[in-house]
Amino acid sequence: MTLSDAELERYARQIVLREVGGVGQNKLKAAKVAVVGAGGIGSAVIPALTGAGIGSLTIIDDDVVELANLHRQPLFGDADTGQPKAELAARFVERLNRNVETSAVRQRVGPDNAGELFAGHELVIDGSDNFATRLAVSGACVALGIPLLSAAAIQFQGQVGLFSGRPCYRCFVGDAFDADDCDNCAELGVLGALTGTTGNFAALLAINSIVGIGDDQAGRVHIFDGAALTWRTIRIPPDPACKACG
Ligand SMILES: [Zn+2]
Repeated sequence: MTLSDAELERYARQIVLREVGGVGQNKLKAAKVAVVGAGGIGSAVIPALTGAGIGSLTIIDDDVVELANLHRQPLFGDADTGQPKAELAARFVERLNRNVETSAVRQRVGPDNAGELFAGHELVIDGSDNFATRLAVSGACVALGIPLLSAAAIQFQGQVGLFSGRPCYRCFVGDAFDADDCDNCAELGVLGALTGTTGNFAALLAINSIVGIGDDQAGRVHIFDGAALTWRTIRIPPDPACKACG
């Protein structure tokens, strides 16, 4: 794969990084990534990966934009309320960077369609807002052998974890949430700057993981305290009884 003169100019400030270079930029260009959820997390992840020159982004979301989304979802504006998020997010990608192939999938991810939706991708980033979806996403990633980057933000806490094989996301949260389908943000509240911080951390982790920068982060969860403004990292032990990866 070669980079055009326009691509070399566009990505010059990251290609000049010794850890990225032309080789890393080509890895980004070759990468096909699926993003579940074009909400608060997706609103940070999608622009960051599009700007960085990810080759292909599949954006999966079955929701439409509501007025109460706009404080934390800067992919959308006032005129977009009532419009489907997946298509609007894909249009944002096309506007920002024509080099990125994008497809919008207006479906809710569940155990029945997740495998089909994720096949062929090298990374899945889950920014969905409920545990039933997150567990369905995780189950499909384990079955397909695709690394999963899970990101969530609620109240003043953000969480980002990379799972590749064992331990999986289910080892981290357990089975109790399989039927949980509620939108937590509606009940508990969240700041847009918190979802943005968490989503950008997830995008950075995705780029590092694709390019091969830093240590392997699989099996670690990074937790942000938005009140204290501190990050801490925990290691997730594999659950011997996990029904997904055990
Ligand atoms: Zn597991």
